[in-house]
Amino acid sequence: MKKCMKCNKQSAYYRPYSGEYLCKKHFIESIERKVARTIARHKMLQETDKIGVGISGGKDSTVLLYILQKIEKRFPQSSLIAITIDEGISGYREEGLKLATQLTSELGIEHFITSFRELYGYSLDEIVQIFKKKSKEQHTACFFCGILRRRSLNQVARNLKVDKLALGHNLDDEAQTVLMNIFRSDIIRMGRTNLNLRQVHDLFVPRIKPLREIPEREIAAYAFFRDLPFHSQTCPYAEGVLRNDIQRILNEMEAKRPGTKHSVLRSGDKIQQLLQIKQEIHLCPICHEPATEKICKFCKIMQNLQNHSTKNI
Ligand SMILES: [Zn+2]
Ligand SMILES: [Zn+2]
Repeated sequence: MKKCMKCNKQSAYYRPYSGEYLCKKHFIESIERKVARTIARHKMLQETDKIGVGISGGKDSTVLLYILQKIEKRFPQSSLIAITIDEGISGYREEGLKLATQLTSELGIEHFITSFRELYGYSLDEIVQIFKKKSKEQHTACFFCGILRRRSLNQVARNLKVDKLALGHNLDDEAQTVLMNIFRSDIIRMGRTNLNLRQVHDLFVPRIKPLREIPEREIAAYAFFRDLPFHSQTCPYAEGVLRNDIQRILNEMEAKRPGTKHSVLRSGDKIQQLLQIKQEIHLCPICHEPATEKICKFCKIMQNLQNHSTKNI
């Protein structure tokens, strides 16, 4: 058994891309230091920020909330609130919600919970069903979920007067997104991702991703070593989506050539910096939220739902 490179105790974790062997204590420290460094490098937080943390009960957002609380405690003028949006995925979301609530009560963090149904009148399951039966337009559940989640998190964060909205995306998620944009030849979208936190519109709460440089495997190990409660089931709608195929390719590449995921992330950041696309943003005439299309995607979904769900009643 190898020894920890920092203290000579027995190692508990091997990090292939850096060749480090670390004991539990030094592994935990290395993750917390890396998150703090990511926040500092991208100037993600200010000392007086009210930070909203989107949590689902899954390992990423659980680890994010735990580490952010440790960092936030050092700044007396800042504050932290956890936000959970229940999409309404039966047989899946209930457990996550339970664990998220358990976590915030253990950590003593204020927790705001709402749902798609409460905000917009439909659960994700209902939306998927209505579109499947009645609409010619066929989309994956992830398409609806992505648009509604983005909208709802922004609205909730804004109402709670949050300065920064922190999300639990890890290195794997971010590298997958870079490759997905390439596979779909959606390079323009990469130019729009907002790494530099420029204020795109007053009505958008800036989003930060402090875990973007931590591999998923290390987040799982951190949660395990810290004994944090988390939900490990994957979303039932995520089967067969492009993201899963890309994840498999990236994992194979990473196993053969450690460091691949970091390098894909850096490529995405460089493309983003070179493109710096300025979006034309106006207010959607229906919902009065900032949008890039004439009528925003959210309103198109809602119009479609209302047409289809009233027709046959
Ligand atoms: Zn050690
Ligand atoms: Zn709209």
